[in-house]
Amino acid sequence: MCGIFAYIGRRNNAANIVLEGLKRLEYRGYDSWGIATKNRGKIDVDKHVGKIGEAKTNLSKSTIGIGHTRWATHGGVTVANAHPHLDCTKQIAVLHNGIIENYAELRKELIRKGHKFASETDTEIMAHLIEENLKRSGFATAVRDSFNKLKGMNAMLIMNSASSEIIAVKNGSPLVIGLGKDEIFAASDAAGILKHTNRVLFLEDNQMAILGKNIKLLRLPRGSSVKPKLTTLSWKFEETEKGKYKHFFIKEIHEEAKVIENIALNGVANIKRLSELIDKAFGTFLIACGSASYSAIAATYLFSKVANKHVNFAIGSEFKYIEDFIANKTLIIPISQSGESIDVIEPVMRAKNQKGAYIAAIVNVLGSTLYRISDFKILLESGPEKAVVATKSFIAMLAVLILTAYTLAGKQDKGRALLKKAAKNVSQILSDAYVPKIKLLAQKLAKSEHIYIIGRGLSYTAALEATLKIKEATYIHAEAFPGGELKHGVIALIEKGTPCIVFAPNDETYYDILSNAQEIKARGGYIIGIGPRNSDVFDEFLETDDIEEATLLPQVTISHLLGYYLSLARGNKDPDKPRNLAKSVTVK
Ligand code: GLU
Repeated sequence: MCGIFAYIGRRNNAANIVLEGLKRLEYRGYDSWGIATKNRGKIDVDKHVGKIGEAKTNLSKSTIGIGHTRWATHGGVTVANAHPHLDCTKQIAVLHNGIIENYAELRKELIRKGHKFASETDTEIMAHLIEENLKRSGFATAVRDSFNKLKGMNAMLIMNSASSEIIAVKNGSPLVIGLGKDEIFAASDAAGILKHTNRVLFLEDNQMAILGKNIKLLRLPRGSSVKPKLTTLSWKFEETEKGKYKHFFIKEIHEEAKVIENIALNGVANIKRLSELIDKAFGTFLIACGSASYSAIAATYLFSKVANKHVNFAIGSEFKYIEDFIANKTLIIPISQSGESIDVIEPVMRAKNQKGAYIAAIVNVLGSTLYRISDFKILLESGPEKAVVATKSFIAMLAVLILTAYTLAGKQDKGRALLKKAAKNVSQILSDAYVPKIKLLAQKLAKSEHIYIIGRGLSYTAALEATLKIKEATYIHAEAFPGGELKHGVIALIEKGTPCIVFAPNDETYYDILSNAQEIKARGGYIIGIGPRNSDVFDEFLETDDIEEATLLPQVTISHLLGYYLSLARGNKDPDKPRNLAKSVTVK
């Protein structure tokens, strides 16, 4: 997962530029961090365990540097395992995002040749492989030949004390090169570079870029030369900063109304095309992970209810066990914020390359792997999302799917009108008149050990999302159930005072879900109702407007706010970075 950053150019404070870059990428992994610079023909390294936070580095002046924030896969969280990693001669520095799948055999072979390893990581293999190959060839060729030996999805940045160039190379994991004035940057994502330039090159798989005075691009395995194609980003740097907010988490929730409105106003043409693709497809499969997977579940309800259309859904990492019947007329709709989630990319590649399926992606990040490999794409346009916990991107996924279902039913105008109403209701929920209610509720729930959340139909997906936010942001055990499932087991867990959140929209689920709320209450449960109408059964009530299917959107905003304020009420110092997680899951 990890964040990687490189600088080479006219300024001589490379270490600080890299450090600042890493701070912007830290949401990608925060077990440890490290920087390498080149100084008087020597590589200097500064490595630390833990979050980068406000850290400073005392590496001396240099015009070339690389840095890494780690999400450990191979080897514990120690200084020795922090990147960059060096070869025996300390001439080569390597940092890496991914997993070298054949690392055990390569390591054995290198040890046999006399190499001494200083870490337990798979990454260090690459430094020693390059050291070996340098005996026979120049820097670029040595990197090429070494990278060609690696199995797995990997992105790497490599520095050589004897060279004034940095090499970036990738297969699978993301890498973006940024071109400034007399300076070049590289980072795991475009948002990391935006402060310096909006002219970027998205490195493709099996491409290697030699960064020096300019960018030299080569295609692996042979190293044939390719002409770099630069893209100009439309995101603004300010969008990647916290601004007046304390955390990205709350800043991004506050953007939810704007995100919905934007889709209502601008998403129209692309969504029409997506609805036609679904209409014509011989089976449609939505694939996603985490929150995005709940948007895919929501789609199964939405398309059935609004457009009388059946769509299938699978968790990305489970798809390979049910994909046998995919054919070339199947439509695959992967949904992902980052467009880098390996559990989505892998099944999509298989469906495309082995079965010839058509891929129509719903994705937030322009130029991401998913964006590039898809035949058709809808950009969520929700702007950069930096908190590890997904919020506005999830809202955008739901808004796109609601509008697509209405468009498929021939009622796009109605879909847009519902989204506009939802945007209005979401801004009311985000107002100073409403938020204190959620803060108060968060105080009341802060000591809970368990929270149960129920909904039926479309609101079941709101329950799933609320549960995930609570788990990630607060570490409270939370579980979501369709209301009807209670009596099949879960009700045994309800004790006096157990908090239960009940989504009760004004739709066909209303009376049934209220009965479920009564059943919980009869066993002592403390009921928090969310919906357009208060009821005697609710001990607490948070109101939404009644906006038909789009009621899901204010329900979700309330869940997001509850997750955030509950996290603060529990004393979580850094809600943007929950323990053990990273923003985009680029390893299996
Ligand atoms: N596999 C490498 C490690 O464990 C890189 C992990 C990452 O992508 O952060 O150090």
